[in-house]
Amino acid sequence: MGVKVDIAIIGAGVSGAAIASTLSQYDISVCVLEKSNDISNGASKANSGIVHAGYDAKPGTMMAAFNVQGNAMFSALCERLDVPFTRIGSYVVAFNRDDMKTLEMLKKRGEENGVPDLEILSAKVVHINEPHLNPNIIGALFAPTAAVVSPYELSIAFMEHAIDNGVQLYLQSPVQNIIKENNAYKIITPDKEIQAACVINCAGVYADTIHDMVLPSAFHINARRGEYFLLDKYAGDIVQHIIFQCPSDRGKGVLVTPTAHKNIIIGPNAEDILEREAVETTVEGLSEVWKSALKSSPELPENQIITTFSGIRAEPSSGDFIIRDYIETPGFIDVAGIKSPGLSSAPAFALYVNDLVQKYFGSLKQKENYIQGRRKRIHFHELSHEERREIVKKDPLYGRIICRCENITEGEIVDSIHRFAGARTIDGVKRRARCGGGRCQGGFCGPRIIDILARELNIPKEAVCKDSPESRIIVAETKGNCAL
Ligand SMILES: Cc1cc2nc3c(=O)[nH]c(=O)nc-3n(C[C@H](O)[C@H](O)[C@H](O)COP(=O)(O)OP(=O)(O)OC[C@H]3O[C@@H](n4cnc5c(N)ncnc54)[C@H](O)[C@@H]3O)c2cc1C
Repeated sequence: MGVKVDIAIIGAGVSGAAIASTLSQYDISVCVLEKSNDISNGASKANSGIVHAGYDAKPGTMMAAFNVQGNAMFSALCERLDVPFTRIGSYVVAFNRDDMKTLEMLKKRGEENGVPDLEILSAKVVHINEPHLNPNIIGALFAPTAAVVSPYELSIAFMEHAIDNGVQLYLQSPVQNIIKENNAYKIITPDKEIQAACVINCAGVYADTIHDMVLPSAFHINARRGEYFLLDKYAGDIVQHIIFQCPSDRGKGVLVTPTAHKNIIIGPNAEDILEREAVETTVEGLSEVWKSALKSSPELPENQIITTFSGIRAEPSSGDFIIRDYIETPGFIDVAGIKSPGLSSAPAFALYVNDLVQKYFGSLKQKENYIQGRRKRIHFHELSHEERREIVKKDPLYGRIICRCENITEGEIVDSIHRFAGARTIDGVKRRARCGGGRCQGGFCGPRIIDILARELNIPKEAVCKDSPESRIIVAETKGNCAL
């Protein structure tokens, strides 16, 4: 299959999706090529979900600038795209005098970066506001602009918005090679060739591989895994803010925080690994995380753990984001080395990439029928009885609760399947509608979701996968075939 487009974006994580959403305002053809079978299946689905305030990165770096600019964009953005987001603020806690010096340094750095309202709190204030923290904490750096967001819902929302505005998404389309031909690039995937005037490389841990297809090798991406615990909502009052310990050269350290959905998340550690997609959790890694988190709060309830997971950071050899074009290959743009705070920075660096694209094409014409927002979803459990009655009258599927832990209705699941870039797998439903995101982790609702996916997609139940195409759940009938 041959396709010709103005812009091809490689990778449908938060970077590619944010850029696709931003570029979808113009009268040009844009496609996104993603090797996986869903949006946000790389680092963008498994991270801390923090919109950092912006005091961590060194002044003058891209990370510092885009973090602070991105943070300021989040409230309006999440309102427009209907994404769970809350500005709960963060504490970096100190246990000794050296830590207090680190807090002073972070505050100064944050102020240089333009972070507003940073404040060092006394032990007394910290313990009044957070009574379950370690009594040995002697102070904290408070950043009121820090926030929590649902990272995969943000990526999905960006992409849904982009598709609503005409962007074409090709899933299961791994880019195998890129050939520069005159004023265009020929992008090769197993089943198609895309000819694009402009290529934007947002391939996460593989961004160096994509870069090397077009230009001499200039940087390397190291994979650094971080493991997490997720606690049930019943543990939700253990902390009210994002609780960090002092950072080290390995990153921001283990945090304890409420999520955008009011669970508690604990993690990550930082382990360099060779296999770039090794997302398994390990006994050693999780033990390290739990032990470190207990230092922040000795009261963490182990019996509220509902799942564990890990994500892989794309650590660039350069230390900073690599977001740039090149004189020798006009139209080729790297968005590489997008480690933390990549999630926080994505809305801002999407604007920067927009400028690079404008520079390459000259001025681009705005679409006349551009859609600003995203079609609102129904969050049934948040509605009043009156509102619920009205919705069920119109569509009885909203009257059937499928996920009992999170109170998610069949109507919400069906909607998540039939939206642009809709769910095709059980985990796809979980990431869009939260079905299976609660205490039982799909133990009760899983079989019902298989039925609904098979019915709505008109496929056999055996074809429904948990996540990747290899993760089939039903292999064959058992009892039906048994000879008596
Ligand atoms: C443990 C951890 C904690 C983090 N915590 C935070 C945080 O709290 N706050 C924050 O701001 N940031 C955080 N980050 C960083 C943030 O998650 C990333 O910066 C962000 O998700 C990167 O998005 P991305 O789109 O660049 O990469 P990804 O989400 O990895 O997306 C890259 C995509 O490219 C696709 N791809 C790769 N190769 C190809 C190919 N050849 N062809 C087609 N597609 C391809 C992949 O399948 C993938 O979908 C954290 C990261 C980790 C791992």
